[in-house]
Amino acid sequence: MKLHTCDDLVIGSSPVSLFAAIALAKEGRHVLVAEGDTDIGGVWAPARTGQQTVADQAPHLIDARPGVYEFLSDELGLDLIDVTDDAYIAYANPLFGERLHPYTDYWLFGMCADENREVFRQLSDGGASPGLIKLEWESRRAAAGQPEDREPVIRYFKAGTGEFVRSLEAQLKLHDVEVLTGQRISTLEVGVPGTGFVGHSDGAAITAQSVVMNGHAFPDTIAHTDRSTDLEWTSSDAHSLIMTVDDNTADPFFYAVYPESELIHLAADLSYGEPIAPLRRTLVVTMDNRGLIQHHGGGHIPGLILQELQQSGLVAPRARLVSVDLHSVSRRSITPESRDHAKQFDGVRFLESRGGLDRSLVLLSEFVSEKPQASQPEQATHIL
Ligand SMILES: Cc1cc2nc3c(=O)[nH]c(=O)nc-3n(C[C@H](O)[C@H](O)[C@H](O)COP(=O)(O)OP(=O)(O)OC[C@H]3O[C@@H](n4cnc5c(N)ncnc54)[C@H](O)[C@@H]3O)c2cc1C
Repeated sequence: MKLHTCDDLVIGSSPVSLFAAIALAKEGRHVLVAEGDTDIGGVWAPARTGQQTVADQAPHLIDARPGVYEFLSDELGLDLIDVTDDAYIAYANPLFGERLHPYTDYWLFGMCADENREVFRQLSDGGASPGLIKLEWESRRAAAGQPEDREPVIRYFKAGTGEFVRSLEAQLKLHDVEVLTGQRISTLEVGVPGTGFVGHSDGAAITAQSVVMNGHAFPDTIAHTDRSTDLEWTSSDAHSLIMTVDDNTADPFFYAVYPESELIHLAADLSYGEPIAPLRRTLVVTMDNRGLIQHHGGGHIPGLILQELQQSGLVAPRARLVSVDLHSVSRRSITPESRDHAKQFDGVRFLESRGGLDRSLVLLSEFVSEKPQASQPEQATHIL
């Protein structure tokens, strides 16, 4: 058993957690990140598969919010690409017909996103016009603080999420943040005299004055004096197929939403920024358990997915599958009751990580400004 000491123990290593770790380290604190997986990055870590060593593990998108793209390019030095009008999203809905749609018709994309699916269905079932749906989405954008007077510009990492995680790794080194991978914190002792907290994993015990966790990165149990409480969570699986296809179409796409499909949830063309070879593309498609169970034994799933991509026009009719890898992630989400339980202890800081990376970045400025000695950044660009 190895013993470690730090000021702040950060549980989990998604970018959301790493931003917090780096922000704390910049204030001169000794920060240790404990990650249960062998790689850092959470769902932003690139996938390691048999055929390909590195690829985004799921379709990703970073929403336009104040300061976020500037932060990624100026502070982290990342090369970003603009997603242009010719990168389309696909959707199949009776209201709009089965066709491709420009990505910059952003409001419509928003209506297709997960949390809006039900609203989208209700509106379109009720015969609502696209104008009405646009209005609904605009009001959501306004509520989220997005400028309404500007055309949203969508930007993404030119070299995928691997580059993003590497740039965060460089920041961790620069600011002397200690990182332990393969160390899942199972029990967190709180109220330990002299230190405050001890995090226990299979191979290590980490003493800390404060602990940072979030709704997907938390211990199994909190032990407090003579009482232990097991935290409760729900779990969900995300399955991604990483497919290489030979394709004679000249138009790569960026991100596609399939609100009506039983098999495909989202699809992205990982060659959008950097083509891997002429006529060859790497696609990543997420499926949910429902689709997999429904199709269990009902056909060759990669073949069925390719067919559906072809039918929606994102892949050429004569495209050929070169290789397929399955990447599955099981994820825990803490219940509200357990979140409240964990938050009650002085020194536990709970990061808001729902609603996407862009939102977390903006919220992180609040996390930083909560600290009395911290400056008061107004937007994401000031965090690191
Ligand atoms: C498939 C998928 C795609 C997504 N795509 C986008 C996107 O395109 N844009 C966007 O803005 N958001 C996206 N999200 C939302 C995503 O939730 C956030 O962007 C962000 O990754 C959330 O970070 P997190 O720390 O909450 O969770 P995660 O990214 O899941 O990271 C949690 C990490 O904590 C580790 N961990 C958990 N418990 C412990 C423990 N006890 N000890 C040590 N380590 C632990 C896990 O191993 C994992 O590495 C996506 C989510 C999923 C599931």
